[in-house]
Amino acid sequence: MENLKSLTDEALALVAQSDDLASLDKVRVGYLGKKGQITALLKGLGKLSAAERPAAGAEINRAKQQVTESLDQRKQTLENRAIDLQLAEEAVDIGLAGRRSDVGGLHPVTRTIQRIESIFSSVGYTVAEGPEIEDDFHNFEALNIPSHHPARAMHDTFYVSENHVLRTHTSPVQIRTMIQQEPPIHVICPGRVYRCDSDLTHTPMFHQVEGLVVDKNISFAELKGTVDQFLKAFFEMDVPVRFRPSYFPFTEPSAEVDIQCSACRGAGCRICKETDWVEIMGCGMVHPNVFKACDIDAATFSGFAFGMGVERLAMMRYGVKDLRLFFENDFDFVVQF
Ligand SMILES: [Zn+2]
Repeated sequence: MENLKSLTDEALALVAQSDDLASLDKVRVGYLGKKGQITALLKGLGKLSAAERPAAGAEINRAKQQVTESLDQRKQTLENRAIDLQLAEEAVDIGLAGRRSDVGGLHPVTRTIQRIESIFSSVGYTVAEGPEIEDDFHNFEALNIPSHHPARAMHDTFYVSENHVLRTHTSPVQIRTMIQQEPPIHVICPGRVYRCDSDLTHTPMFHQVEGLVVDKNISFAELKGTVDQFLKAFFEMDVPVRFRPSYFPFTEPSAEVDIQCSACRGAGCRICKETDWVEIMGCGMVHPNVFKACDIDAATFSGFAFGMGVERLAMMRYGVKDLRLFFENDFDFVVQF
């Protein structure tokens, strides 16, 4: 009992010195735990006489109370300090400038396809799509290109299997449309096509839009008018257009379409190879053999088809000089459009 005062002071001093919850708990165990020093004094009360016991008990309990309160206070202080520290470490500086997300743009090829679709949709054409892996029948045979035909050599074809290819043009979509649908037909077929070819002006994958019209009394005059009106609408100017006789297996007669070079306006430049004209699409009247393959009566119906390279049109419209720019995914390039 003589030691109670110094024992209490000692415990209070240790509590004050405790700098973390673990050492604080050690102090609690050391004085108030089962085998703690103050607990031991309480246990020893039994040895005192009945007269001494109440006063001594009250005194020890006061000491115990004092140490307990001190422990609780210190614990609260340490816990608050830990929270403050955590808040300080995890603080967010709301004054910092944020990260802006860049606003993207549609790829010029996508824009060009959408533009072509919108021009043709406005005069009643619908948009048809088909698979990029095609069978021999849809990609060649039905288009009047039998296996022995020399035109097959013109197409540098990627073969997927003996009978399946990556489509070399979107013409198989015309075949699928004619097989599924009765005339009158007015469709355009945009999509990716593949040729085993890669140099300055060719990429192994590029985009085409083809058009097909099948009805009664469709003549070459309608084809000419349609192509001419489309090109003037597409380029938003009265661009001179000319037709040159050409050959395609799936049309007869066939023509290639040139427009006056938009880069030099007919003065001659590198883009038009000093010819003043740039080839822009191929077209012609649907070959009777193509109608036959699609079970359409060529005596009753006639039709025309045309096809154009989307990248070429995009280059002409936007003044892009290098085809490869379309496929390099350079953000600075794409964002200009
Ligand atoms: Zn030119």
